Order: sequence, then C-alpha cells, then structure tokens
Amino acid sequence: MYKEQTKSRAENSNSFKQIAVIGSGAIGNMTALQLAKLGHEVHIIDPLINQLIHTEEAINGSTASLGVLMGYIYKRSSGRGWSLRERTMALWQQWIDILNTQETPLKIDSPLLQIAKSKEEASLMGLISQKRKHLGVEFLSSKQVLNLGISLAKTNHGCLISYQDGRINPLELQQALYNALRKSKIQFIQETVIKLERKSSICNQKWLIHLSKSKSLLKDIVIICAALGSETLLNPLGHHRPIEPILGQVLDLQLKDKPSNWSNWPPVIVFDGINLIPKGMNNLLLGATLEPGTTVNTECLQELKSLRGNAPNWLKNSTIHTNWSGIRARPMNRPAPLLEKLEDGLILATGHYRNGILLAPATADWVSSTISKQNNQ
Ligand SMILES: Cc1cc2nc3c(=O)[nH]c(=O)nc-3n(C[C@H](O)[C@H](O)[C@H](O)COP(=O)(O)OP(=O)(O)OC[C@H]3O[C@@H](n4cnc5c(N)ncnc54)[C@H](O)[C@@H]3O)c2cc1C
Repeated sequence: MYKEQTKSRAENSNSFKQIAVIGSGAIGNMTALQLAKLGHEVHIIDPLINQLIHTEEAINGSTASLGVLMGYIYKRSSGRGWSLRERTMALWQQWIDILNTQETPLKIDSPLLQIAKSKEEASLMGLISQKRKHLGVEFLSSKQVLNLGISLAKTNHGCLISYQDGRINPLELQQALYNALRKSKIQFIQETVIKLERKSSICNQKWLIHLSKSKSLLKDIVIICAALGSETLLNPLGHHRPIEPILGQVLDLQLKDKPSNWSNWPPVIVFDGINLIPKGMNNLLLGATLEPGTTVNTECLQELKSLRGNAPNWLKNSTIHTNWSGIRARPMNRPAPLLEKLEDGLILATGHYRNGILLAPATADWVSSTISKQNNQ
C-alpha cells in the first residue's frame, strides 16, 4: 500500500529534486529513504554515517535511545502532539513491512503498560481508555495488574495497557534503515556540513552546502535533521532556533532474583516516567534519566536504579551489567519537534527531544508532503 502511494505521488508531482539530508539519525535516515522512494535524488550527509552501531558507545541520540513507542497512550486527544502521534502510529506498520527483511528482522514488541501513580491519574487513564478502545487502549484495575504478576510498588491504582504501543529495538531499526538506504540510490557523504549558503537567482533559490573535507554541493532542497548540530547551521542564515541538550542515562541490569511471572511481563512497563524493559531471561533495561546538559550525574543514576525509592527487593538485588548515556535535543521556547519550512528549499525537521524514534515516520511523511506542496505551487 505504501509503495503504491509513494509511486503515484511521485508520478503526480512530476518534479524530482536534488535534495541533501543533513544528519543520519533515525529522523534523517527515514526521511531520506522516503524521499528517494518518491523519486528524488538524495544525498545524506553525516560524519557518523558508516560507524558501527552499538548502544554502549552511542554515537547519536538514535543509537542511545530505548525505542519506546508511546503513541496511542498519549495524554492529550487534540492538538499537534496528538495528530503527530496518531499519524506516526498508523505509518509504523507500513515502515515495518518495508524494513523487515531476512537480513534485518524488525518488529514492534507490544503491548506497553503504564502504571497509574495516583487515583487522579487512574481516572484520567479511564477517560483515555474510553476514547481509544478502537486503538487497543484499555484500563486495567489493580487486581488485573496483580494477576499479570507485575510486582511493583504502587500498582494499587491500576494501569493503562496499549496493545499497539510498545518498543522497537533502535539499533535494529538503524541497521535496517542503513541497509534500505544502501539498496536505494541514495549517496552517503561521511562528512560534517560546516555552512549553508543561499544561491538566489530571479526564478529560484538553490543551496550551497559547504563540507568539512570535499567540494561544496549545490542542491534544490536542504533538510536539516542534525539535532544539536542544527543551530550552528541555522544561525548564520538568520533563523534562530535554540536547542538544549538533555542527557539520558540507561541501565542494563542483571537480575539475581526475578519477579514471579517474569516470562509474562509485557515488553515495556512505564512506572513513574521510567521505562522497564525485560531483556532476555535475566536482564532488564531501565531508563532513561532526564539531566539538563551533557555531563552524567551519578545521583541521577542511583535514583533511576532505586525507581525513585520504590524499587522492590528483586530490583534492589540486581547488579549493573552495563550502562550508557546519550543526548536528546530539546527546542527552547518552542514545543518539540521543530518541523518548519523556513524558506524555499530549506526545511527543518529536528528537536524531537524524547520522542524521535516514535515520531520518525510522521516526520518523514511531513517532510515529503511539504516538498510536494512546494512543487505544486
Ligand atoms: C537515553 C535516551 C533514551 C531515549 N528513549 C527514547 C524512546 O524510548 N523513544 C523515543 O521515541 N525516543 C527516545 N529518545 C529520543 C530519541 O533518541 C531522539 O529523539 C532521536 O534519536 C532523534 O533523532 P535524530 O535523527 O533527530 O537525531 P540524532 O540521532 O541525534 O542524529 C543527529 C545526527 O546529526 C548529525 N549531525 C549533527 N550536526 C551535523 C552537521 N553539521 N553535519 C552533518 N551531520 C551532522 C550527527 O552526527 C547525528 O548523527 C531517547 C534518547 C536518549 C538519549
């Protein structure tokens, strides 16, 4: 279905562009792939493009991510945040169909369970579940939670279960995207973009992309998906979009004792804003902290391991198998993400803060429809 849609859109637009995508995280990669499928000629530029993908040595936000997809469980039911989530969740299954190959198996592990901290939160969850039954969202009473064998403190208010939300392994996603990019006609440039320059003529505007090592490139359209690197490229052009770093730490814990019913745990439990993700027989991923800046704070890590003082004994007895951190890009004074057509041929699609994996399909879709609109003007 997606292939048919993209083919017909490309045929209709009848105007293929030369496009540069700056940044090869989940956002840049998915956007580049969608544009190439529409028939555009795409270059993707990032110094980290061909690096091995490991979480422990996370190279960008996408490889550090936990990959939790909290779409339909979102608290609001209107506004841009909800529209983006609704759209992205509808698109995710199509992306899985495209990216899931024998070489790079890819799936969404679901369901996701979000535990209510208070009576008030539980009643809000009850309202959400009534509105989103058709999307697979239900409210479970505290008794039902206990029957699932979820032995965490404060489960006595119940929880939301969302059968379509869940988790995608972000390293497998990046690998699958790279494989798909390699098979398409997209060209990789493993360099940093140091400057963007307008080249205007009477009838159109092009963009000169200055690279750290090679000759500059001239393009019809530039898409900036460079997270924290975006601001430096935008400021000289007169577009001020301050973005701040928010560090996140993740723990991979080895469990000595396991909670009863461990094998029945859902792929993601969200407890007081912390994700608990069972990994294999004996491990649990826990994360992520929210730390303004770029320096890790050991106290935040301790708070995470203790589930803010609510850790049950089996969690207290666990040991740290490994841990890592990464940086999220949060727009200042504007809501995340930054999706803007700034000028003819200059598009910003970045600053996804805590939800860049979740919103990658909706972002790629927004960029491609923005370009189609520009072509039709
Ligand atoms: C610990 C942690 C946990 C997270 N958990 C989740 C989660 O569960 N679910 C979720 O949806 N999101 C999560 N996130 C957020 C998510 O990872 C990000 O929102 C997402 O990865 C952003 O993707 P991106 O492509 O915009 O940026 P990035 O992945 O950071 O990629 C940006 C790329 O731009 C490149 N770049 C920068 N400047 C330049 C330049 N001048 N020239 C060329 N290239 C440049 C960089 O090298 C980099 O590769 C988490 C983040 C962290 C840190």
